[in-house]
Amino acid sequence: MRTRARLISSLRDMGITDEKVLAAMMDTPRHLFVDEGIASHAYDNGSLPIGYGQTISQPYIVALMTQIMLDGRKPAKVLEIGTGSGYQTTILSKLAGTVYSVERIEPLLKQAKRLHYKLRLRNIFHKLAKGNTFGWPDTGPFDGILVTAAPQTIPEELYSQLAPGGRMVIPSGEDNAQELYLIERTNSGFTKTSLEAVRFVPLIGGS
Ligand code: SAH
Repeated sequence: MRTRARLISSLRDMGITDEKVLAAMMDTPRHLFVDEGIASHAYDNGSLPIGYGQTISQPYIVALMTQIMLDGRKPAKVLEIGTGSGYQTTILSKLAGTVYSVERIEPLLKQAKRLHYKLRLRNIFHKLAKGNTFGWPDTGPFDGILVTAAPQTIPEELYSQLAPGGRMVIPSGEDNAQELYLIERTNSGFTKTSLEAVRFVPLIGGS
């Protein structure tokens, strides 16, 4: 718990101010979401491999994306694209009403599902992403969308899964020139704000 507390305090130093986000991360055993061999690095503020060429995001990025998407509220319905290890999903499940999470690599999805069950998180729905559809259109629209893999340009169909007043946090851009964006749906359309430079694995698929 001491290393976890140290991580939380460094997130605070880096500008994370939402106490609910910090508490959710303090409450979540990140070491369970990575292989035993690298579990000793689970509370370093870095990304780590989770197999299949994918990574669990850096804790700072998880905290930042969550804080910006929540904006101090508790969204009823949230969509996560890229379940991966299931760590970000777990944080969201503590801060939102219901979380819908999609992942295209089946073994990662199964492993995350098992962990969520073990941690008794009952407000998460999982789905295997197939074909060229992004997200979970027939379950939307969502009050919040968090995308943890980067498309080169933001797919149109993600905008339409955002409810009015909803907030989407998504990285996009070329491999080594990605930016994190906040997309807000207003009554008259969408606004797009650039947040900071980031590095994510690519979002796969699309037509
Ligand atoms: N949120 C995860 C981060 C995993 S990395 C965590 O906390 O561990 C991003 C994930 O997005 C990868 O597992 C990758 O397989 C998945 N992904 C990539 N393209 C996708 C798509 N079109 N639909 C769903 N998942 C996708």
